[in-house]
Amino acid sequence: PRTAVVTGSASGIGRSTRELLGQRGENVIGVDVRDAEVVADLSGADGRDAMVEGVRHLSGGRVDSVYAIAGLAAPTPATVAVDFFGALATLEGLRPLLSGSPSPRAVLVSSMAALLPSDAELVSLLTAEDEPAALARAEVLAKAAETTGLIYSSTKLALSRWVRRRAASADWAGAGIPLNAVAPGIIATPMAAAMISTAEQRRALLERVPMPLNGIAEPIVVARALAWLGGEENTHLCGQIVYVDGGSDAVLRGDAV
Ligand code: NAD
Repeated sequence: PRTAVVTGSASGIGRSTRELLGQRGENVIGVDVRDAEVVADLSGADGRDAMVEGVRHLSGGRVDSVYAIAGLAAPTPATVAVDFFGALATLEGLRPLLSGSPSPRAVLVSSMAALLPSDAELVSLLTAEDEPAALARAEVLAKAAETTGLIYSSTKLALSRWVRRRAASADWAGAGIPLNAVAPGIIATPMAAAMISTAEQRRALLERVPMPLNGIAEPIVVARALAWLGGEENTHLCGQIVYVDGGSDAVLRGDAV
C-alpha cells in the first residue's frame, strides 16, 4: 500500500482526506497540532523540523504522497507562517522521502481567495521566501480593519504562484514528482463555520465567492480531488491549480485560462 502524509489531518479537509485515503487502504501519517501520528506546530522552524523527523521515523524513510493541507484563515501573521512557510517546509522537507517511491506525488491546498484583492508587498516578500519580512508586513496589515483580509488572500496567491514556478523544475517534474494544488471555494469545515452559520452570512459570503454550481461544498468534495492528484493515476498534471469552487473562478476571471 501507498504511504501518504497529510498535514492538517485533525479537522476539515485534512481529516476528510485522511479518512478517504485510509478507506482506500493507504497508510496515512497525519500531522497536526493535536490528534495526529505526528504532533507538530508548522508555524515555526522547530515544529517543521519535528514534522520531517517524525514522518521519517514513522515511514521508515519512504513516502508516496504528500498532502500539505494544514492552514488557518485568521487575519494574523500566523496565517502567513502556517499556510505559506509551513506548506513549503512540508513539501521541500519531505521531498527527499518521496524520491524512494515508484510513483511520488505532491499536492497542496491553496484557495479561490487567491483571486480576491491582495497586498503586492506581502506577495512579493512571500515570493522571495523572506519569512521575517513577510511576517513583519503581515503585522502591519493586521493593524487596520481595511487590510486584515489581505493577509490570507496574499498568502494563498503566493502559494499558487509557488506551485506554478516550482512544478516544472528539476526538483519536481525533473524528479518525476507531479506537484499541483487545489483551490477550494467555500467548504463547510470548522474554519468556515463562523462565516456561514446564518442564511444572511451565507448570502453575503456567496456574493464575494460566487458558487453557481451546487453552492457551499462538504470537505469530502475537496478530498476526492486531492486524492486523485496525489494518486497513481495522475501521471501528467503538472503545476495546475485545480479550482474546486462551484464556479467562482469561472465567474470572477472569465476568459483567463
Ligand atoms: P480546519 O480548521 O477544519 O482544519 C485545519 C487544520 O490545520 C486543523 O486541524 C488545524 O489544527 C491544522 N493546523 C492549523 N495550524 C496548524 C499548525 N500551526 N501546525 C499544524 N497544523 C495546523 O480548516 P479547513 O477548512 O479544513 O482548511 C484546510 C485548508 O483548506 C487550509 O489550508 C485552508 O486555507 C484551505 N481552504 C479552506 C477553505 C474553506 O472554506 N474551509 C476554502 C479554501 C481553502
